[in-house]
Amino acid sequence: MSFDKFGKISYLSETKVADFAKYLEKGKIMATRCNTCGKLYFPPQADCPDDLSTDMTWEKLSGKCKLLTYTTAHFAPAGFQDDVPYTIALAQCEEGVKVYALLSRNINENEICIGMDLKLTPLQFPNGRITYELKKA
Ligand SMILES: [Zn+2]
Repeated sequence: MSFDKFGKISYLSETKVADFAKYLEKGKIMATRCNTCGKLYFPPQADCPDDLSTDMTWEKLSGKCKLLTYTTAHFAPAGFQDDVPYTIALAQCEEGVKVYALLSRNINENEICIGMDLKLTPLQFPNGRITYELKKA
C-alpha cells in the first residue's frame, strides 16, 4: 500500500487497536502476524517489536488454550476493591502465542488446574467497554 509511510506511526497504531475492539464485538479474537519474521502477537501489535516491520496481517485465533500459570489477587488498588478476588492467568494458545487474561468468575478456585483446557472469549461490560477473558473450554 502506498499510504504505508503516510502520517504518524501512532495514527496507524491507534487504527489497528480500534479494529481489535471491533473484532471483539463480533466475537473474534484477533492477533497480528509479522509477514517479515512470521511471529504471532497477542494482543495485536501494529508493528513487529522484533524487526520493526510494519507489514502485519490480522489472524484469527481459535481461542483454544491451556492454562500455564495463574495468580489470584485478594487486594486491589483504590477504585478496584469491588473486583477482588480476581484471577489473572497465563495461557498457551494452540497457535503458539501466550496470553495474559482474567480467568472467568464462572470457574471455581478448586477447579483450576495447570494444563486445563480454556477458551479465550470476548467479554462485554454493561458500560459498553469490551475486553477478553479465559473461560472453561
Ligand atoms: Zn517481525
